[in-house]
Amino acid sequence: MTPEIPRKKTKKIRIGRVVIGGGMPIAVQSMTKCPTTSLKKLSSEIRLLEEAGCDIVRLGIPDLESARALRQIKKCTKMPLVADIHFDWRLAVESIKSGADKIRINPGNIGDGKKLKAVLAEASAASIPVRIGLNSGSLPKKYLLPGGGFTPESFAGCASDYIKLFESMDFTDIVISLKSTDIFMTYRAYRAMAEITRYPLHIGITESGFGTEGLVRSSIGIGLLLFEGIGDTIRVSLTDTSALEAEAGREILKTLNLSSGEPVLISCPTCARREMDVAELSRLAKKQLKGVKKGITFAVMGCSVNGPGEARHADYGVAGGKGKVVIFSRGSAVKTVEKKDIARELKKLVGEIKNE
Ligand code: SF4
Repeated sequence: MTPEIPRKKTKKIRIGRVVIGGGMPIAVQSMTKCPTTSLKKLSSEIRLLEEAGCDIVRLGIPDLESARALRQIKKCTKMPLVADIHFDWRLAVESIKSGADKIRINPGNIGDGKKLKAVLAEASAASIPVRIGLNSGSLPKKYLLPGGGFTPESFAGCASDYIKLFESMDFTDIVISLKSTDIFMTYRAYRAMAEITRYPLHIGITESGFGTEGLVRSSIGIGLLLFEGIGDTIRVSLTDTSALEAEAGREILKTLNLSSGEPVLISCPTCARREMDVAELSRLAKKQLKGVKKGITFAVMGCSVNGPGEARHADYGVAGGKGKVVIFSRGSAVKTVEKKDIARELKKLVGEIKNE
């Protein structure tokens, strides 16, 4: 039995239809890659994100046109929209007026107190939260060491000072993030932060990379924190599609047993005993399992001699044989079908699992 990871207690915050913190399910976030003003491209990107299991979507707001485009985007999706703002406080205000469900700012680059006050007043009137999103590359000078470096504590200390500033302006709908490309710095900064705040934490490794590098770096960084009970929302930042980011995020949660009601797909690495195309069948099984809302484990194994036994912990599975495929459940064969019929049989099996 996989142990449950005790989670740090944080404040509940609503972001549109999603509630984070306070023991609520950890939400998966991603950020769109196409221009916020390209409504057609953006709505299809958001649809793919929903299919990949994304809970919250963030959009870059580089100009007023993008901020105003949020009105139309809101009509295309029920997913909460987060407006990502850099430097210009007016873009934050306009995004809130256009219906953003949350704003992400780095208070250090928003300007003087009056500008921040105007943003927080607008967010407060709209009852939406604001994320204090800090990146290691943009820490104000006063938090840096003489040589320009910084410590996890100075990173967390900067966030803590911003929290005090927000609270002094009567704003407490706060989410915090402290991202860095160095997974150890990120890990230690979030740990330090989790000790001193009860506001929810959005976690991720920034600029984690492309392909395998990005997936591994993000999984280790996010995984280390989640394993300590830290993190209320996650984003896997990849130089790749946003849908892959969301898919990877869901997979991290499933792997750590932090998301329920989702099927887990496992497959063997194959070897000289392989009697079917495991990769192809895994792709097929993954597609079929998409709509299943049950926490089952489904195995795709290359041979029927060892496969069912090796995956006896799986609830269901398929294993390749000579011209046949064995369908098994908890290690025992339940049916043998012709290889050519496997797509149809798989669909039937998944249909039965759904209706169980
Ligand atoms: Fe090899 Fe069969 Fe094990 Fe797959 S299930 S790794 S094909 S022995």
